[in-house]
Amino acid sequence: MNEPVVIIGGGIIGASVAYHLAALYSLENVVVLEKSRLGSGSTSASLGGFRHQFSSETAIRLSIESVKVLDSFEATFGYDPLIKRDGYCFIASSQSSFNQLKKNRELASSLGIEVDLLGNEELQEYFPFYSFEGIIGGTFCKADGHASTSAVLQGYVSKAKSLGVKFFEDMAVTGIVIDNKSVKSVVTPNFSITTSKLLIASGAFSGVVGKLAGVDIPIKPYPRKILVTDPFSDSVPLEIPVIVDIDSTLAVGREGKGVIFADNKPTPSSFELAFPEDYDERVISKAAKRIPSLSGASVAYSDVGLYELTPDSNPIVSKIKEVTGLYCCAGFAGHGFMHAPEIGRIMAEIITGQKTHIDISEYDYRRFDSERLQSSEKLII
Ligand SMILES: Cc1cc2nc3c(=O)[nH]c(=O)nc-3n(C[C@H](O)[C@H](O)[C@H](O)COP(=O)(O)OP(=O)(O)OC[C@H]3O[C@@H](n4cnc5c(N)ncnc54)[C@H](O)[C@@H]3O)c2cc1C
Repeated sequence: MNEPVVIIGGGIIGASVAYHLAALYSLENVVVLEKSRLGSGSTSASLGGFRHQFSSETAIRLSIESVKVLDSFEATFGYDPLIKRDGYCFIASSQSSFNQLKKNRELASSLGIEVDLLGNEELQEYFPFYSFEGIIGGTFCKADGHASTSAVLQGYVSKAKSLGVKFFEDMAVTGIVIDNKSVKSVVTPNFSITTSKLLIASGAFSGVVGKLAGVDIPIKPYPRKILVTDPFSDSVPLEIPVIVDIDSTLAVGREGKGVIFADNKPTPSSFELAFPEDYDERVISKAAKRIPSLSGASVAYSDVGLYELTPDSNPIVSKIKEVTGLYCCAGFAGHGFMHAPEIGRIMAEIITGQKTHIDISEYDYRRFDSERLQSSEKLII
């Protein structure tokens, strides 16, 4: 039997790559090692949002192709991804942020995605429940929306299993054996697997896992928290877009009958998911400045998880040059779910030595060799 391709990490990215390896390249020998439960990492915190508004062409192309997959997901995978096109509306109070939103809009339009440009008065007219005081304008894309992260994960896992992929839960990788600058095997407390192709798809832990192979993968964890209110109807309609103020970093949307909000201010890097005791209160009062009725809302539950960021906020989707047979697919900030369908296919192409069907060189690990990084994604939320 051939040596398996081994994937470290059973989140949405590991599952999508595993499926594509098995489906597109008939690789019967693919193994996914997950230290906890499948999807229990950042994937479990994802809100399932997808958007086409980015500052980079590559990111928009990944969204376009991935959303096509989501649209036909049920027919292929048997799981309804519960797509809702409720839209994303980005707003700005500074001229420089507004200029960036306009540039993003032009880029999206050049790729066939319609994005509306709204001035302050139009915003107020469209979304009267929200106070746009001090906001210059914004962009709204009705092709953006949400889907069920767990349905998509289950779709990939069950289809991959039916094609012969083996998933091991509670199976932490504790060692990677390298000899002569090549991958030889991967070690867990229960067994070792001889392999010459190893993918690190370990989300926020990818830097830690990279160290097992003696390489420096510059991905750091950043804790994030999202609050969801009890059912809330006071002045906020049930169907609203996610409204993201890119200057204050406040994001507000709907999760079922509750209102969802988050303050996406950068936090210090940490694996710790604990937030200060008064965190919820502070975020609620920030949100209440925009939606005054929210001051009386009660928080039903919160969702915490890790964002994973590289120095330029773009992911690493490539070979790791120092070690033959080592690959990385991680660092997706807040858009790993929405890009997983297309990224899984591209990573499978890289692992099997194919030419990627879209140019992904922007996400090559070698970019960190140069003193100045080429460009960074400007719209991280
Ligand atoms: C609060 C929040 C909201 C988000 N909302 C969205 C959204 O709306 N839309 C969107 O597109 N994205 C969103 N994201 C981002 C998205 O969740 C991530 O980009 C995506 O889940 C990354 O998937 P992954 O498979 O790379 O990582 P993970 O889901 O973290 O999977 C990596 C896995 O590797 C495992 N692992 C780590 N170390 C080892 C080891 N040594 N051995 C074995 N296994 C190991 C972990 O246990 C984990 O399960 C959000 C993230 C957060 C935190």
